[in-house]
Amino acid sequence: MAQTMELAKTGREVIRDDYRCLIGGELVGALSGATVATHNPATGEKLADVPNCGAADVDRAVAAAQSAYPAWRRLTPVERAVYVRKFAARLRERAETYAWIDSLDLGSPLQAMRKDVASAAALNDYYAGIAPEIKGETIPATATTLNFTIREPYGVVGRIIPFNHPILFAARIAAPLIAGNTLVMKPPEQTPLSALEMARDVREIFPPGVVNIINGDGLNVGAPLVRHPLVRRVHFTGSVEIGREVARAAAEGLKPVSLELGGKNPMIVFPDADIDKAVAGAFNGMNYCWSQGQSCGSTSRLFLHESIHDEFLAKLLAKVSTARIGIPTDESTDMGCLVTEKHFNRVMSYIELGKKEGAKLVAGGGKPTQPELQHGYFVLPTVFDGVTMSMRLAQEEIFGPVQAVLTWKDEADLPKLANSLNFGLTASIWTRDFPKAYQLAQEIEAGFVWINDASRHFAGVPFGGVKHSGMGREETLGDLLSYTQLKSINVNLT
Ligand code: NAP
Repeated sequence: MAQTMELAKTGREVIRDDYRCLIGGELVGALSGATVATHNPATGEKLADVPNCGAADVDRAVAAAQSAYPAWRRLTPVERAVYVRKFAARLRERAETYAWIDSLDLGSPLQAMRKDVASAAALNDYYAGIAPEIKGETIPATATTLNFTIREPYGVVGRIIPFNHPILFAARIAAPLIAGNTLVMKPPEQTPLSALEMARDVREIFPPGVVNIINGDGLNVGAPLVRHPLVRRVHFTGSVEIGREVARAAAEGLKPVSLELGGKNPMIVFPDADIDKAVAGAFNGMNYCWSQGQSCGSTSRLFLHESIHDEFLAKLLAKVSTARIGIPTDESTDMGCLVTEKHFNRVMSYIELGKKEGAKLVAGGGKPTQPELQHGYFVLPTVFDGVTMSMRLAQEEIFGPVQAVLTWKDEADLPKLANSLNFGLTASIWTRDFPKAYQLAQEIEAGFVWINDASRHFAGVPFGGVKHSGMGREETLGDLLSYTQLKSINVNLT
């Protein structure tokens, strides 16, 4: 509590003047000496200069990870989990600092960023708990042989993460590590600070070289990391466009890759749904008050049955108007700002496009009017009614606080409407008729479906996409095992 009050004065206390990457247990700058500035998107204020690495730094980091690998892989999964638990505990001890850093660097509300730190810690503990599940099988192949499998790590894993939940993604290191791999991670250029702060905690907890964190942009660090011959397994979370490039480069090196990509996720409301709960679900599903809509799972296509459309929309607009948009680090703020001017302009261009396409703007559509918000990239929660699937507003991931309302008549059309895009990440179905919901859940092309719920993740429940929304599942045992490869051992007993 004392720390909260201290920080609340300015928040500057959590920002360092000497950010460094972590390579081989050492805190280092880029070999070239290059740095790049990161800014507070709510105020425009410069926060810090951070190292801006290049391919030579990637080589250093991969070499450090490779040399740490033999000793790390010799530990048992349970021994490796001990380090991960310590790391989870450290995240909790320093939760306030991490939450403040992300709120300042990203522009999401402080209260939401506290939950991100807590989720990151919980997920690390979850993986530590299932460490003993890294095991093989015995196979009764013949009467005179003993045939069994063991699970082995790949070696060095490259991990590339997006801007929208910085510490939540940066701290998700448990799966590759408990599986016995070492790691080189690249944080996003827009929000590098919490990952670089984390580098210091990681340095104190893990043996040198087991986790390496290098900052730099996608072209100069991300691409060389994926292509590096000693990187044997890649994980990428980000856009479909870059995911495709990463998959192509990984294929060239014949290395397995998991991809967590974008979405344009449907939420479908039936006439028998509990309207008040579904309205709350439509609001929460957009993640307005978590990330200003900058979350991959946001239910940005809202399909309302024509018989409930008017009542639902009126209630949704009332709900949306309650979101307190403000300076992200203020305790009373529900909704912050977008991450950069470039992203702000992109979201605003979609709002203009929606108007041109003939959709009806019924909420938001621009910046708030408060004087203290004029220097930041704030966009009001924005709702378009009268959207049709032929509009780009309904087809493309905007990744901002823009919700498209579409109307449906016939249940038989729903799978086609929901599945008409190449995305397939999440979907949300609202009805009191469970058999109907379950039937539709099976028909919808998405990796993660909620029935009478939205937005929430659950440790142990696989999260990931189908079609262009990705390959692989996170937050589950399958994810942990995906960082291992099977070896069969066959003993002749005669
Ligand atoms: P992005 O532009 O695809 O960038 C993601 C990461 O890839 C960044 O670290 C970026 O580096 C790096 N990168 C860029 N070019 C690269 C290249 N050629 N090779 C390797 N790495 C490269 O995505 P974003 O704008 O940060 O994040 C938003 C996207 O992520 C949305 O589409 C969202 O849906 C998706 N997302 C998906 C999930 C999921 O679980 N499915 C979760 C969160 C976000 P720099 O930015 O530093 O250049």
